[in-house]
This record gives sequence, structure tokens and C-alpha cells, in this order.
Amino acid sequence: KSKGLKGYAPICLGLEDFYTRRLYLRIQDCFGRPIASSPDSRIDVVERFSTDSNKTLQRTIKTTSCINLGSYNYLGFAAADEYCTPLVIESLKKYSPSIAVFGWMAELVARFVGKPAAITFGMGYVTNSAIIPVLMGKGGLIISDTLNHNSIVNGARASGATIRVFQHNSPSHLEEVLREQIAEGQPRTHRPWKKIIVVVEGIYSMEGELCNLPEIIAVCKKYKAYTYLDEAHSIGAIGKTGRGVCELLGVDTADVDIMMGTFTKSFGSCGGYIAASKKIIQYLKYTCPAHIYATAMSPPAVQQVISSIKVILGEDDGSNRGAQKLTRIRENGNFFRSELKKMGFEVLGDNDSPVMPIMLYNPAKIPAFSRECLRQNVAIVTVAFPATPLLLARARICISASHTREDLIKSLEVISTVGDLVGIKYFPIENEKA
Ligand code: PMP
Repeated sequence: KSKGLKGYAPICLGLEDFYTRRLYLRIQDCFGRPIASSPDSRIDVVERFSTDSNKTLQRTIKTTSCINLGSYNYLGFAAADEYCTPLVIESLKKYSPSIAVFGWMAELVARFVGKPAAITFGMGYVTNSAIIPVLMGKGGLIISDTLNHNSIVNGARASGATIRVFQHNSPSHLEEVLREQIAEGQPRTHRPWKKIIVVVEGIYSMEGELCNLPEIIAVCKKYKAYTYLDEAHSIGAIGKTGRGVCELLGVDTADVDIMMGTFTKSFGSCGGYIAASKKIIQYLKYTCPAHIYATAMSPPAVQQVISSIKVILGEDDGSNRGAQKLTRIRENGNFFRSELKKMGFEVLGDNDSPVMPIMLYNPAKIPAFSRECLRQNVAIVTVAFPATPLLLARARICISASHTREDLIKSLEVISTVGDLVGIKYFPIENEKA
């Protein structure tokens, strides 16, 4: 069975059975490479080679120091921080690692995102997949953007509600889908659905695109549908004071019913939150099994969230580092995006978004692109099926406030050389003009 695939799937040899055979679809060595350092602007990437010399299996481990263009460390909090780290260490001494101390974190999160109350969970993924089934059930209608994250998709499926999708980021198609279900202005009590909720993301993580939130909210208001906004990639990363897509696009947070986010990205911690009205949060506290039956976040993770938000809010030691980080991520991102475009790459996403996918299209280009960048000390995440459609493979760059201008210029040089080698500068004419 595995004969023709030997070179591509060495990890699987001997393991092919009913449970593992799907792994053959992946090009293994470009995914899941171990990292032996904190995910800051530079990382140590570990590569493992297996060689069979003299019939003895030899394992070689090579560590390469790279510029890191692949992590969600948007504000640089994933590395040791002069304000946060001592407090996180202190929290370990003060509490046991398993004690729950998250009450005031929820208050701070609610204040930061601009909602009356919040509830937190040990994992971002679980926040979506466990909360959506509590909010929605049989007789409800979930209208979901086609490119919503897997945690949303699984939450929606588990809820038992009817699911409809609308074309990615298209308010007009959302309206079409709504119009198929209900009449404009029909009161909530006179509709065939118990509840209708529209689920979107602030920044789409595989596209780097900002949500068309003002237009989507206008449609939701017109049809009296509730809104659920996943800000995993936007909270802390965009907006003048880091308050995400609402702040950037001038949307009143009162117009978003449920605001969801994670602590794994801008805050350098782990866990997730839901922020909403006091009534909704109270309801979730008493009814959500993932809140009642699961273990809470540990104190170091909680402390990291509290401390990083305080830095962003300028409530740390008056250092103004939060504002500087926000300016830095915006400037870094916009500089990198415009330089990539000038070089002739097809770059997805909007200005101000720190996520910028470079289209590779053909998945066969992934290994060459990924390995060649790594060989030249730049680590970039490549994304392919099933996270994207089969022929829309891409290299997904995430820019951080912790990147220096030198890091960015060096990375651009490498990406340009590798781009020529692999043949992914799809707009060479613009390139020549420049
Ligand atoms: N929502 C979105 C949009 C995400 O991209 C992710 C993960 N990257 C999650 C939810 C899950 O968050 P976490 O990784 O913190 O569990």
C-alpha cells in the first residue's frame, strides 16, 4: 500500500491502518516541525532526519535559528516580558498551578472588549465549540460565513440547529440567505425559527481579511438576527487601543451580541472568552457544561492575560509599551504587505491586518517553498487542504510587533529569492514597473 509514498510519509511506515491512512495525504515534513524556543521573533526549528546506514537506524537532529514569520505572537507577549513574566512567576509561587483565580480576569476582559460581562474557558477552541451548542439548539438557525474556523463549524454542528452558510464576507449574500428564511422586519415571535444567529470572524485567519462588520451588522439589525463575532485574531492586534475590529471599523460593541476571543494570540497565554450582556453571561455560567464540568485556566495563564491587558491599556507601570506595540504591529504589517505586493506576489488580506497569506495555489509548491525558506533561516507556515481548498495552498505570514525592521528586510529578501525559485510571483508586470 505504501510503496509509492515511502519518500513522503516516513513517519507512517508500519503504521498504516484504518486510523492513520489519511495521513498519506499530507506532506509531512513541512507540518508540525518542533520548535525548541519560545515563539518570539526568532525561533529554533528542529528537523529530524532518519538514515539507515549499516542497517542501524540513525536519527539526526538539526536545529536551525530562524526569523519567525509563523506565529500568532502579534504583540510579542509570547516571549519573556519585563512586566508580565515576573508577575506570572510570582503567581506560581502564590497559588498552586491548578487553583482557580479567574474572577477578576473576566471583569478586566469585559472592560477591555467593551461588554458588560465575560466568562472564560481553558481553551479557545472549546469556547466556540462548547458555547454555540448552549446558545443555539433545535429550532434555531445559525448562519455562518463559509470560511469560519473549524471550532465554529463543529460548535454549530453539535448544536442541532439548522445551519446555512453565506458567501465569505458578503453582506449581500447574507441578506439573500436571511430573506429565504424570513421576511424583512418580521417580529422574532412570528418567525419559523426560535432564534437566528449570524457568526463571523474579526480577521479571517487563512485570508488575513477584515470582516465587513458594519455592513453585516446592518443586515442583522434589519432582519433582527443576533450576531456572534470571533475575535481570535483581531482582539489585541488591531484598533487604535487594541480593542479589535469594532474599534478599527467604528462599530459600537453594543451592536454585537456575543463577542468571542482567545488568549493564545495577542495575549501570549491560553484560553478563551465570551463577552456579552450580564444576562447572557449569567445564563452561560449556569448552563454551559464546559464551564461547569471542566477545569479552569491555571494561575500563570490567568496572570499572563491580566498583565498583558494591563500593558495594552497602559495600566502597567506607565511605560506606554502597549501603545508602542500597537503602532509597531500596524507599521510592520503594512510595510511587509506593501513590499510583498511590489515584488509581484499575490497577497491576500487587508491593510492593518497582521495576517498575510502569499498564494502558492499548487500544493506541490509547498515543500520547495517551505524547505528553501527554512534553509535560508526564515520560518514560514504553509497552509493547505483541508484548512484551504485543495488548489488554494498558501504560505501564511503573521507579522509581530516584536519583529525589527532588519528582520523584515532580511525576510523579504529571502522570500523574494525563494519566490523566483518556486515560481510564485504571479504579478511580474507590476514588479517590472516598480
Ligand atoms: N477561532 C479562530 C478564528 C481561530 O483561528 C482559532 C485558532 N487559531 C480558534 C478559534 C481556537 O483558538 P485556540 O487556538 O486558542 O484554541
